Amino acid sequence: MIDACSESKPLLSIDDALDRINAAISPVNSTEKTALKNALGRVLAEPVYSPINIPHDRNAAMDGYAFASRDIADGQTFTLTLAGVSWAGRPFQGRLQPGQCVRIFTGAVVPEQADSVIMQEHVQAQGQTIHFPADTRKQQNIRKIGEDVKQGACLIAEPKKLTAVDLGLLASAGIDQVAVKRQLKIAYFSTGDELISIGRPLESGKIYDSNRTMLGGLLADPSYSVVDLGVIPDNKQLLEDSFIKASKIYDAIITTGGASVGEADYVKEILQSCGEVNFWKIAIKPGKPLAFGRIGQCYFFGLPGNPVAVVVTFQQIVAPALRQLSGAPSLKPLRFAATCTCALKKSPGRQEYQRGILSQDEHGEFFVVSAGQQGSHILSSMSQSDCYIVLPEECKGVQAGDKVTVEPFSLSI
Ligand code: AMP
Ligand code: MG
Repeated sequence: MIDACSESKPLLSIDDALDRINAAISPVNSTEKTALKNALGRVLAEPVYSPINIPHDRNAAMDGYAFASRDIADGQTFTLTLAGVSWAGRPFQGRLQPGQCVRIFTGAVVPEQADSVIMQEHVQAQGQTIHFPADTRKQQNIRKIGEDVKQGACLIAEPKKLTAVDLGLLASAGIDQVAVKRQLKIAYFSTGDELISIGRPLESGKIYDSNRTMLGGLLADPSYSVVDLGVIPDNKQLLEDSFIKASKIYDAIITTGGASVGEADYVKEILQSCGEVNFWKIAIKPGKPLAFGRIGQCYFFGLPGNPVAVVVTFQQIVAPALRQLSGAPSLKPLRFAATCTCALKKSPGRQEYQRGILSQDEHGEFFVVSAGQQGSHILSSMSQSDCYIVLPEECKGVQAGDKVTVEPFSLSI
């Protein structure tokens, strides 16, 4: 097995890193009830069964006239007499007699004696007499009881991260509360003597802390309860105290900076002394130094300091890990081939995530162009990009016109 902590050994591939995370993380198991309206993005913890048939009543699929198919005159036009109206929410109260029809609107209950609805555009109404065409078909345009969901059937199985449509489906069955996994408690902080928090004047030699604001955005997820612990200077003791204190409260800690091999890079060393390092360096670019491990019960992600490396390692490593910890099923990123319209530089050895801009021509073909400078400190090209161009470890560069693998992403919520 690769000793991922040793500098002399080969770097861990991203797939191996993800396998290690998968083996190391046990999802949270406590659950809580929440009102359906607050359940968006939460992880469903128990299956939900439908207490009712959906639709609950036989109803019209369109505006028209409800009638009994036995009144159809084979291949001939015919007329029926209007007996009343069935509105959505106000059903026709009478009993349909042979030779009669009922004006009906979409979603309205179909009278028991009717088994078909004809579109209003296909008939001619003359007072109470409705003229049906010769090609009137039997048993049309009726939504059957339970055709969407049968009473007692499973509406949604756990685990699932609930979407807006899931909430709609549950609401259609009258469900107003669901059992969800508890929120993950996540803390994050920046490390570095050079960092100044936004809102303060910039001093010479210092930089604004962009990672913390960005991480706050990347962690915006209803399954997470997130706390910003600020900036910690490059002071070993302070860092160690902060790690230990946070590890007793949170399910996961995310730090940025100080994860490399510089004189002031203490993160991995501290993780080693007060917890366990599972891996430290992975064969990706940007984002090689990434310390994953745990301190007590708390998972620890020590991300690199360069902002683009933070985004890449967050999306590729931390996000799937947190998803697993939250109890949500894993998601494979969508990847497909596109033609690269420019040359890309790359040395073999690490899998690269280059920033790209995707487009599609009128034939549906995908094209990708580099979003510009690829340095791991160049956040402007990250902001302009909408996909990664994923270049495998062995790739030695790309010529314009080559096919490449792209992974589109959205950094908004
Ligand atoms: P480090 O891993 O601490 O050596 O940091 C690598 C690079 O990322 C340095 O240029 C840092 O100044 C920069 N960096 C570290 N933390 C942050 C941050 N929170 N915001 C912006 N840049 C950062
Ligand atoms: Mg630093």
